[in-house]
Amino acid sequence: MKIGVLGLQGAVEEHIKQITALGLEGITIKQPEQLQEIDGLILPGGESTTISRLIHRYGFTDPIKKFAKSKKPIFGTCAGMVLLAKELSGSEDSHLGLMDICVKRNAFGRQRDSFEAKLDVKGIADPFTAVFIRAPYVESAVTHVEILATYNEHIVAARQEHLLVSSFHPELTGDTRFLELFVSMVTEYKKELIIS
Ligand code: GLN
Repeated sequence: MKIGVLGLQGAVEEHIKQITALGLEGITIKQPEQLQEIDGLILPGGESTTISRLIHRYGFTDPIKKFAKSKKPIFGTCAGMVLLAKELSGSEDSHLGLMDICVKRNAFGRQRDSFEAKLDVKGIADPFTAVFIRAPYVESAVTHVEILATYNEHIVAARQEHLLVSSFHPELTGDTRFLELFVSMVTEYKKELIIS
């Protein structure tokens, strides 16, 4: 199994390290053609406006949309969540617009720019220590979006079919369980490919 991490800006190397720690192949994606080599794609945290600009500049917009259409799993962490959202709170714009969620950027306010919290995550047995850095949250979601975790009643992790998002940075801890959730989605996708 090969997992790609969009390598235009942000916390790319940290994801690659976690992927490798699971014994999988992690590929830094710098060219749209590389998307054909991978089974799942991670859109990392960073600065969503910058990553979005680079996505357009390097011709990634349509290839990523095509990747999503083929039902290959995509995981957006933090800025990656902002990129996947169909709607951004208080803005007319959206970026890739693939997931039926409305996301509020920098949603936890200034004094809570950066913090850690122990969260109960659906599909993970014991609490998961989540690192939030100028994090967004899901302000609203349509019913077919599955809520995986909340913090102070705000949605901070969710799944819609082959799309997974987290407000926090699972790659910044030594705990690979959230990444394993994504890997299980990629495994599901590969099994379905074999059956169909
Ligand atoms: N606040 C950032 C943005 O909206 C995301 C922060 C992050 O990825 N840690 O781009």
